[in-house]
Amino acid sequence: MTELYKLSISEAGALLRQRKISAVELTQAHLDRIREVEPKVKAFTLVTDELALQQAREADKRFASGENLHPLTGIPLAIKDVICTKDITTTAGSRMLENFKPPFDATVMERLNATGFVMVGKTNMDEFAMGSSTEHSAFFPTHNPWDLERAPGGSSGGSAAAVAAGMAMGSYGSDTGGSIRQPGSLCNLVGLKPTYGRVSRFGLIAFASSLDQIGPFARNARDAAILLQAIAGHDRRDGTSSPEPVQDYEAALSGSIKGLRIGVPEEYWVEGTQPGVVSAVKENIERLRELGAEISPVSLPHTKYGVAAYYIIAPAEASSNLSRYDGVKYGYSYRDTSDMWEAMEKTREYGFGPEVKRRIMLGTYALSAGYYDAYYKRAEKIRTLIKQDFDKAFEKFDALVSPASPTVAFKIGEISDPYQMYLQDVFTIPANLAGICGVSIPGGFNDNLPVGLQLLGNVFKEDTILRIADAFEQVTDYHSRWPNL
Ligand code: GLN
Repeated sequence: MTELYKLSISEAGALLRQRKISAVELTQAHLDRIREVEPKVKAFTLVTDELALQQAREADKRFASGENLHPLTGIPLAIKDVICTKDITTTAGSRMLENFKPPFDATVMERLNATGFVMVGKTNMDEFAMGSSTEHSAFFPTHNPWDLERAPGGSSGGSAAAVAAGMAMGSYGSDTGGSIRQPGSLCNLVGLKPTYGRVSRFGLIAFASSLDQIGPFARNARDAAILLQAIAGHDRRDGTSSPEPVQDYEAALSGSIKGLRIGVPEEYWVEGTQPGVVSAVKENIERLRELGAEISPVSLPHTKYGVAAYYIIAPAEASSNLSRYDGVKYGYSYRDTSDMWEAMEKTREYGFGPEVKRRIMLGTYALSAGYYDAYYKRAEKIRTLIKQDFDKAFEKFDALVSPASPTVAFKIGEISDPYQMYLQDVFTIPANLAGICGVSIPGGFNDNLPVGLQLLGNVFKEDTILRIADAFEQVTDYHSRWPNL
């Protein structure tokens, strides 16, 4: 047998059910892999090895009794450190929450725990999910398993690197403007952002509440379908969660995309995209055509305002969400003064990193009485126009296809200008503004670095984009390649 850590979730699940391997063996293989490569990759803020082995033993009991089995029972997964785990440190990549142990589980964690999965650890991220490289983590940067000098993307870079390096069979991240799809793209993974409202945000530490969604990273479309299935569905504790019935995502993987209408947004061929990315994506589009999809161009005319609108709306919401970190309720607290205002000021001065402060200032400014109409209100209007572009496109198309990121993985330290970093999300941001779903899938290599292909689907059409991803995997082998670590 190949190394256990190289199995897919569905393969491992079959072996577990046939009792050819045990959950403890499978978990141990991943903990061994963590010991071997984590010192180089630094994907985790916390490795929960004892808990993992305990959960694996419980999973093995379930297999022995044959009861309550779920496709994720006994499967080792990693969780982005922005998802609250009861009594287990949840830092959001920030000094502010360095020692925070949530008194409750996020809904996503409750659902995962019910499956009997195995948690191997919490993963590193840009502070409060603000960034595209994981360099804004308050603790340390994460390294891309495909080239350790490079960033894995972000903000969910730890979750992506953990799966790409074989330290977890799958993982969860959060995507506010691209934080699952862009690291998915840079690490050769399937990274899916569900439709807004598909997955509960209860217990997800908030960045920008009207944009945030939790979603999976996997090494193939089937695994992504299994991982999404486990967390999707209505939750009465999240007022924005949708009562729309959840599809059977694995059943949707028919292998055929014959007759599917796929649009290629003209506005997504922008200057600054690396030529190697453009050529890989064009080649991929031809593959989709050969598979029987009907490909034609489509126009999304307001695309060019997406990044600008996002960098008003997301910071505005963040400035409000982050006001709760005042040193009083929980988290870091500056105590060297008896003056309340000074305590709050210093708590925020020392607790937040530079990118978070930049966003709070931007957002506060955009929401201030004198500028609200000029910035925030205008950005919201643009958001509506972007949503209408997609509504119109989806009248004619089942899905849209584009690059996921304008570049392959860049060197750690290479992008120092915040604006250049913001442009990493030029292709992913519009989907968050419109609330639609999107996935980045392995789409080839440029100079031995992965290129991601983005598939966008209408609201609640995760089944369609996963079906395309799965069909694409049948005729390509990009997704099955491993980095040399
Ligand atoms: N890179 C974008 C930002 O910094 C998106 C981050 C995310 O999706 N969480 O805001």
